[in-house]
Amino acid sequence: MHTQTHPVAKAGIRPDKHTFLVGENPFESMMARFDEAAHHLNLEVGLRKVLRNPEKQIIVSIPVLMDNGEVEVFTGYRVLYNTARGPGKGGIRFDMQVTQDEVKALAAWMTWKCAVVNLPFGGAKGGVVCDPSKMSMAELERLTRRYTSGIIDTLGPDSDVPAPDVNTNERMMAWIMDTYSMHKRHTVTAVVTGKPVAMGGSLGRREATGRGCMIATREALKLKGMPIEGTRVVVQGFGNVGSISAELMAEQGMKILAVSDKDGGIYDPKGLDIKGVLAHVKEHKYLKSYTKADRVTNAELLELECDVLVPAALENVITEENAGRIRAKIICEGANGPTSADADSILNDAGILVIPDILANAGGVTVSYFEWVQDRGGYFWDEETVNTRLEKIMVSSFQEVASMAQRNNVSMRIAAYMVSIDRVATVHRLRGMYA
Ligand code: GLU
Repeated sequence: MHTQTHPVAKAGIRPDKHTFLVGENPFESMMARFDEAAHHLNLEVGLRKVLRNPEKQIIVSIPVLMDNGEVEVFTGYRVLYNTARGPGKGGIRFDMQVTQDEVKALAAWMTWKCAVVNLPFGGAKGGVVCDPSKMSMAELERLTRRYTSGIIDTLGPDSDVPAPDVNTNERMMAWIMDTYSMHKRHTVTAVVTGKPVAMGGSLGRREATGRGCMIATREALKLKGMPIEGTRVVVQGFGNVGSISAELMAEQGMKILAVSDKDGGIYDPKGLDIKGVLAHVKEHKYLKSYTKADRVTNAELLELECDVLVPAALENVITEENAGRIRAKIICEGANGPTSADADSILNDAGILVIPDILANAGGVTVSYFEWVQDRGGYFWDEETVNTRLEKIMVSSFQEVASMAQRNNVSMRIAAYMVSIDRVATVHRLRGMYA
């Protein structure tokens, strides 16, 4: 299944939405791993058919009055992939590259992600095709509210619970909560997670995905018999996941050699002053003007010699084309789908331990679950309780996946799919088929 690599994919940036090649379409990438895991599980044909298809897909046109007085119409999606284990759970992204296939893949990944850490949730995802960097706050608010009203029939604490994702944050979650609550005529905090702490959000939620990546990396280092102190880490992406992973890994004594954002990265083989880099980004937004380190491109960054590589940006940055040149010992997938299915065997053959996205970045949705529980109970936990419970779930899930991998002689990725597909399939069998 060899294909020519898209030149943009080679540069470490996702290819244009209309030019996915075989093996790079995120839904096919997800399905390839599903099929392999289903084969190892001996999953019955009927359930394979059920789990290969999303339950519900919604497409909405979202008219927005722009600040200049013109009306623009945006396209939004919400996909509920599978809700056998509980309400659909998953973020909403605002991005020009959003497609229905991408949202479908991300919704499926959420299904497996929630199951791998054993949360009582199914999987969902949403996306709106837009460029938030070119929109004012008022335009973003109108877009978010109109999108929420467009998908309101699926939303609800018992049916579908969104959260932040690429280019969305707690501000948008507050608007979603408010719009939903206005329609219901009473305040419903548990309809969305990743909210501001002042209005039903959870302490520790903002840091949760990065914290989970740090914990998973620490467990992987232990598994490989490698020390934590001095571990050389390279991080692609300096948004919520990348920046907090880098910060928390540095706190553990790891050395962050390089980090990047959409314009490229900064590199210091002796280790970056990560606190200084964070302060710089807080002030200047981007890494571009940081002068105390060498510049690298996103493509070069992925191929730097290091112990741990954390792709924490977008899909398909590690492909069949560049996988052979990766010189990390461990890859911790902070992003969803950063490795194309074609690249898996190349990384495996090279002895690189890949902590798969559905496990590595599950810390975010785990604390979303804690937020939902706190909202429903109306009783809030302190940050230490949140972090201790997150740690426990991440460590035990890592161990379950690692032992599944060992028992079946498969990669951590296939093992993670096996653990989660098995959990979803078990519930389907117990519930039976409503006909
Ligand atoms: N967007 C995050 C993810 O991909 C969080 C989802 C959630 O908390 O529901 O895992």
